[in-house]
Amino acid sequence: MRRLKVGVIGVGHLGKSHARIFAGLRDVELAGIVDINPLRAAEIANQHGAAVFADHLAMADHVDAASIVTPTIHHHEIACEYLRRGIPVLVEKPLAVNLEQANELVELSQRTGTMLQVGHIERFNPVYEELRRLPINPKFVECERHGAFTGRSTDIGAVLDLMIHDLDLLLDLVGGEVAHVEAVGAAIFGGHEDIVNARVKFASGCIVNLTASRMSPTPKRKMRIWAPEGYAGVDFVKRRLTLVQPSHELRTNGIPADPAFLPMFKEQVFAKLLRMREVDLNHGDNLTRELEHFVHCVRTGSAPRVRGEEGRDAIALATRILDSLNQHSWENRVHGPTGPDQLPNPLGDLVPDSIRRAA
Ligand code: NAD
Repeated sequence: MRRLKVGVIGVGHLGKSHARIFAGLRDVELAGIVDINPLRAAEIANQHGAAVFADHLAMADHVDAASIVTPTIHHHEIACEYLRRGIPVLVEKPLAVNLEQANELVELSQRTGTMLQVGHIERFNPVYEELRRLPINPKFVECERHGAFTGRSTDIGAVLDLMIHDLDLLLDLVGGEVAHVEAVGAAIFGGHEDIVNARVKFASGCIVNLTASRMSPTPKRKMRIWAPEGYAGVDFVKRRLTLVQPSHELRTNGIPADPAFLPMFKEQVFAKLLRMREVDLNHGDNLTRELEHFVHCVRTGSAPRVRGEEGRDAIALATRILDSLNQHSWENRVHGPTGPDQLPNPLGDLVPDSIRRAA
């Protein structure tokens, strides 16, 4: 079988891993590297014996497929050029900076019949794959996605940078129309929102509470799901699934009426009344699995797990969240501070200089 020639456009923090993984895949040739930083392009290309091209246009005739791992503001322009030429692309998440651009990419992919996959990597996390296999009908979901400020992805805010992962998962898991969105967010480093909370109500009645922050000292990526079937806690970092289900006895008879049971309640709650299971799924690398899937879909012509349409739908929901947080009035006054850039003035210091010096 001829090796599939794949190119990587943008080899920064994440793109270098795309290059390394493609270079190591059987039946794939890492045929080209593009980066606007020529030193960076040469460094990564040398590591894998790949050719460097001046820009994505120069590389187009030399590859069968490409992944686009540039800052999000460039996704639309580069992906359009490749889709017009019929070259399948994997575009990192978020698909584009706004819904208009995302719609154009989906329309172009459909019109030219060219594959467009979006890099929503959590779909390839084994813990999410396991969750998806379970019979669960979410009715209340909490999502937390926290990371430190890295100075990257400053072309977008925390909604398109982080929350977009959970929005995509929710649309996949819960699905259906979104009835209502309410959000609040604050820009701490300037430019775009860095911390966001959103409440999303699906037409099915499922209510979701999401928080995304890129100013947290400890990374956290968790989802907690309450459903008629029980509870599922997903830790995307540890790749651990915690499942709790009321026992048959509890569902049928309720808690034991015997007063002698009461003192033992705490110890017995998980032994008798609730059934609990912890599942560790810490195997395989999510990005490798995602890129292998991309190569498989290019070769076989099958639809990718996350198509342009799904990437676009996540951006549509993100846009509603952004509209809501941009309109949020912090003091409920007509001309008062509104939106992530206009925080009310601080009342005082929470960490005065004297305490900082002592620490
Ligand atoms: P980065 O800033 O570290 O790297 C971007 C690279 O693209 C840089 O080397 C830059 O020189 C290069 N570049 C910029 N414009 C270019 C252009 N027009 N043509 C070619 N190269 C260009 O950013 P990053 O953290 O690697 O993020 C890149 C993309 O990946 C973003 O869209 C981001 O949202 C996404 N991302 C996804 C995940 C995930 O979990 N799936 C994680 C991190 C980043």
